[in-house]
Amino acid sequence: MTGFEEDLALRLREIDEAGLLRTLREISPSQSVVVRRDGCGLVNFSSNDYLGLATHPALIEAARNELAVSGAGSGASRLISGSLPAHRRFEEAMAEFKRTPAALLFSSGYAAAAGTIPAILSESDVVILDKLAHACLIDGARLSGAHMRVFPHNDLDALESRLRWARDTHPRSRILVVVESVYSMDGDAAPLAGIVELKDRHGAWLMVDEAHGVGVLGECGRGLVDALGLGGRVEIQMGTLGKALGSSGAYVCGSAALRDVLVNRARSFIFSTAPPPSAAAAAEAAIRLLTGSPEGPLRLERLHKNIRALHPSAVSAIHPVIVGAEPDAVAASSRLVSAGFLVPAVRFPAVARGQARLRISLSADHTGEMLQRLLDFLRHDGFAL
Ligand SMILES: *Cc1c(COP(=O)(O)O)cnc(C)c1O
Repeated sequence: MTGFEEDLALRLREIDEAGLLRTLREISPSQSVVVRRDGCGLVNFSSNDYLGLATHPALIEAARNELAVSGAGSGASRLISGSLPAHRRFEEAMAEFKRTPAALLFSSGYAAAAGTIPAILSESDVVILDKLAHACLIDGARLSGAHMRVFPHNDLDALESRLRWARDTHPRSRILVVVESVYSMDGDAAPLAGIVELKDRHGAWLMVDEAHGVGVLGECGRGLVDALGLGGRVEIQMGTLGKALGSSGAYVCGSAALRDVLVNRARSFIFSTAPPPSAAAAAEAAIRLLTGSPEGPLRLERLHKNIRALHPSAVSAIHPVIVGAEPDAVAASSRLVSAGFLVPAVRFPAVARGQARLRISLSADHTGEMLQRLLDFLRHDGFAL
């Protein structure tokens, strides 16, 4: 056996030689459309803070007030003694926002997925995922031990054949289909109406991750499931509070029984300290801003104006520019930084090998001029949008 440090060094060399080495780069002073990195000002096209709420005074004030009342930390898991009024208030606001009977707060989207799928499924069950489903959904599916099948991205015929297979080979099993509403690396939407039809026809259940849909799509940012009127037919909805909602944490929405099962079975919920109450209060403030003030809808409108300006057929705040080879994407991202734009290169394992890309994320706070300069630079650099 090699020594520990030697083993680590070897792994790092392998990652580096594959053009996949990542390092942490600090930005300051906060997440917003103009940031500083290594002393240079950059227009930020890399954030998931789509509505600019992470630094919004209403969220900061809500978090600060909650800090003063209930402190910095929750001190215990929710089931021991960490369940605080801010958690309950957030869950009530989220359930109302999503028009579902109940909601449960998790400490992150990763924890929500990794806790929820194994809480619902066991070894004798079947889980069917879209090929582009987020890593946390794949990890949750693996952790459940259920038989796992993947269907090509957004391919309804292929999904139907997986559902048929599942029913034929596992007649008494639970079958859960897991998709996103908006895909995190491609920015495209799932054909949710068709997916709901299929899972109903084959007696399966559906889990939809709205990480990039909530706060972006639908009336007041309620998400794509609500926009399509499918809320009552999707068994499990989840989303993060760390993206458009400007805070941190995640929710799972559905029936009261779903919430009760998760409270009793989701290990990432049970065996983890409750999220800071200030984060729950900030997320609740984001929901109030979206539904109870003129400003929320105005911010949504500005975001959608930017989405249309970037590309007429874009449906979300994410727009990929496919480059292909990993080093080429990294080089393109570096040229963008030299020109004053922060646009990340996304590589394997976040996307398939040879599918490296620039990933443009839009904010309501980008100005038309910022967008135009980015578009001009990309065109000049040989990229077609
Ligand atoms: C970001 C993301 C998550 C994880 O949410 P966090 O709160 O950041 O852990 C889950 N699913 C999708 C699709 C995501 O993009």
